[in-house]
Amino acid sequence: MSVDTPVARPKTITTQLRRQFVAAVGESGVISEPAQLRTYECDGLTGYRMTPALVVLPQSTEEVSAAVRLCAAHGVPFVARGAGTGLSGGALPVADGIVIGLSRMRDVIGIDPDNERMTVQPGVTNSGISVLASPYGLYFAPDPSSQIVCTVGGNVAENSGGAHCLKYGFTSNHVLGVTLVTPDGSIMHLGGDTTDSIGPDLLGVVVGSEGTLGIVTEVTVRLLRRPESVRTLVADFDSVEDAGQAVSGLVAAGVIPAAVEMLDKLAIEACEQATGAGFSRDAAAALIVELDGFDTECEADFDTARRLCESNAATGIRIPTSTAERALIWQGRKSAFAAMGRISPDYFVQDGVIPRSKLGPVLTQIAQMADDAGLRVANVFHAGDGNLHPLVLYDARHVGEAEHAEELATAIVELCVSSGGSISGEHGVGADKACSMMKMFTPDDLAVMKRVRDAFDPDGICNPGKLFPTPRLCGELPGPYRPHPLETAGVIGRG
Ligand SMILES: Cc1cc2nc3c(=O)[nH]c(=O)nc-3n(C[C@H](O)[C@H](O)[C@H](O)COP(=O)(O)OP(=O)(O)OC[C@H]3O[C@@H](n4cnc5c(N)ncnc54)[C@H](O)[C@@H]3O)c2cc1C
Repeated sequence: MSVDTPVARPKTITTQLRRQFVAAVGESGVISEPAQLRTYECDGLTGYRMTPALVVLPQSTEEVSAAVRLCAAHGVPFVARGAGTGLSGGALPVADGIVIGLSRMRDVIGIDPDNERMTVQPGVTNSGISVLASPYGLYFAPDPSSQIVCTVGGNVAENSGGAHCLKYGFTSNHVLGVTLVTPDGSIMHLGGDTTDSIGPDLLGVVVGSEGTLGIVTEVTVRLLRRPESVRTLVADFDSVEDAGQAVSGLVAAGVIPAAVEMLDKLAIEACEQATGAGFSRDAAAALIVELDGFDTECEADFDTARRLCESNAATGIRIPTSTAERALIWQGRKSAFAAMGRISPDYFVQDGVIPRSKLGPVLTQIAQMADDAGLRVANVFHAGDGNLHPLVLYDARHVGEAEHAEELATAIVELCVSSGGSISGEHGVGADKACSMMKMFTPDDLAVMKRVRDAFDPDGICNPGKLFPTPRLCGELPGPYRPHPLETAGVIGRG
């Protein structure tokens, strides 16, 4: 499967333009060898591929700005790329466009332990920030399972989450400021060193904008002090409904765990084969529940959590007895996507959100849909947030199975919407789910979002083809501008 992304004005990179990119970032920062370009043809959503015309690897904000100015002057579309771990095709290039890779921008600009913050270039990895902060007893809270590899620039663009975002919030709650190169090459500083800044929240607009508003070249993050105590348990259940009920019970009891992760039987099987983390293969579902905080508070909440799992039909509870055992449990969970290779040659990772209270019924419906489609679906996800990650397993060697699996993945995410949730919990919309945006938003809503995007990128050269549905690919009705109902009512203007 491949998609051609909808950009209206293909350009070729002439030798002369290539020379200008070399002048901007140096010969070692420009890749034009066809074989090397293929490294950049997709992100973690490998079904969507497009070889870029050129890759540029700048080392500073000024070099990013110079490269973007060249793109703007020559009408060349570009896409920023961090580590390429995105799962929604967000870093997918367009034909005859360029990739601006941030992998050489890994400098630490400043660590300020007294004020618990750090400023880094965007190519620093998520876990790299916590490693740098660790000598001060501090860490960066958002923890995507890809954290060893993914970059903080990618985290900002996707507003990434992770296991511990239930208690600590997503990336947006931990970014104080960014430097942004806008699509005309200008350099902007948004936010600041403090948790609030004056004026409209443009930082809030940029976090989660999936690289469509510009390129983030510096990030100031908020650091947290490591908790005094951490307690973890793994509870087994005979059904995903029972496990879902236990999650609702925990939250209803007022306990806010740092993390509540769920694995179903297929996910347990894959994780055990890959890591031997000690999950029970007899269980239909397992919950990893983690509490953290001050010693006494953590102990009391841990007892409550254990009792609640027991009273919600847990068939067994394992409490790790060492730091190494706890680390292995998390390694098992965080390797889950990669572990799927043990039980299936191919799979799609889907990402949708539902209200926590609907976990049981929606998982049952997904199982039914999988049966009807004749495919297997494994579930491993952030249960506390209601953030599902159904993994639709298939074998690309069987003709038509990839398309069939993709249809099922789309139907599942649309089930999330009809169940009161959303088409993305944390992996973004990218190229993958742009057409599903119309399941959530009205044409008026989308028109307003598009006007925000146009304010940053009037020529549409910054990561085109992502996030917004396009008439050609999504079958929507194109049409002239229609005012939003709020505009007609005089509440907002077009300013
Ligand atoms: C095994 C695995 C587990 C994962 N687990 C999680 C998880 O638990 N939670 C979660 O939220 N995600 C998860 N992800 C998804 C992915 O890792 C995150 O979305 C991550 O933030 C992407 O970072 P990246 O550096 O790889 O970005 P890329 O994939 O390179 O890019 C992602 C998007 O960000 C844009 N972008 C990248 N850098 C910049 C920049 N400096 N300025 C502007 N735009 C930029 C790109 O254009 C693209 O649209 C997982 C992925 C994998 C493969």
